[in-house]
Amino acid sequence: MNAAKVELHLHLDGSLNIKWAYEKLLQRKVLDTTTSFEDFYDILYSKNKEHSAKNFLKFDLLCKALQYEEDLYEATYNLVELLAKRGLIYAEIRFASQQHCLQGLSQKQALKAVIDGAKAACQKYPIKIGIINCMMHKGDSAAFNYQENVDTILATEEYLNDGAVAIDLAGYENNCDFKDYGNLFEIARAKNIPYTIHAAEMGIGSHIMDALAMKPYRIGHGINCVQDPAYLKAVVDSQIPLEVCVSSNLKAFDDDYTKHPIRQLIKAGAKVTINTDNIIFSKADLLHEYSMLELIGVSEKQLQQCTLNAIDAAFISNEEKIELRKQLDF
Ligand SMILES: [Zn+2]
Repeated sequence: MNAAKVELHLHLDGSLNIKWAYEKLLQRKVLDTTTSFEDFYDILYSKNKEHSAKNFLKFDLLCKALQYEEDLYEATYNLVELLAKRGLIYAEIRFASQQHCLQGLSQKQALKAVIDGAKAACQKYPIKIGIINCMMHKGDSAAFNYQENVDTILATEEYLNDGAVAIDLAGYENNCDFKDYGNLFEIARAKNIPYTIHAAEMGIGSHIMDALAMKPYRIGHGINCVQDPAYLKAVVDSQIPLEVCVSSNLKAFDDDYTKHPIRQLIKAGAKVTINTDNIIFSKADLLHEYSMLELIGVSEKQLQQCTLNAIDAAFISNEEKIELRKQLDF
């Protein structure tokens, strides 16, 4: 499938090479030597609904492999290398700098290490990379980690247009009252930092309305907007691009691709882009996503349109978008 070349929603911590993560967790003494690779694998893939609160504990464990500059650098380099070898020409990789300060790094240092790893890989391979830095919702309200989120914005501002391209809001959505975060997005907007928001993925459909009220440049997932025709209409009318990640959501749809609402979203006229979310838990890459969608009847023309939507929605300049379009082979 020639269209699978642009990725906008991919988490670094969820896209590590599993062997690398295991070795790193041993080296950093997070795991002790009595934990075998098979044990580690079982921890990652133990049965629970994707995106349950429990699943976030797995991300916490993977983040512990990424607490030193050299480890963040290496993991990012490895991921960019993998994406380039799979034929991607542009990808936006996201991570939350505030999750990588357990061993004394500042958020700026963590972000710089990721950017440096991406830049080094981009010098070697024909791919462009933008880094999205995620704010997190962790507690019952935005007050819980307000200063950490402000620091995420400030770190991103420092490296904006020098590797960093945007911010995001991620975390366990069902804990979150989006309206609470309006002030943080106002700060970002005042600093001309673009932003996307994880919303209506595992959370209720009305979260899409709260997220749209924040005037985001894009929405992460957004698929539960189909719960109400009024929500879906708002998404279509807004033409705010959705970063849809089908395999990542699949457990919520009985592992049945035909039950995922992506075809409904495309048919309704939403601006859909196709993404992986995280390689470890989706057990997928972008090529797989496009192939599966083709199998369930999304036409080649529609898939190509999703790639064009992704280029349109990318956090890059118009000149860079023109360059990417030239590299498409359809
Ligand atoms: Zn995500």
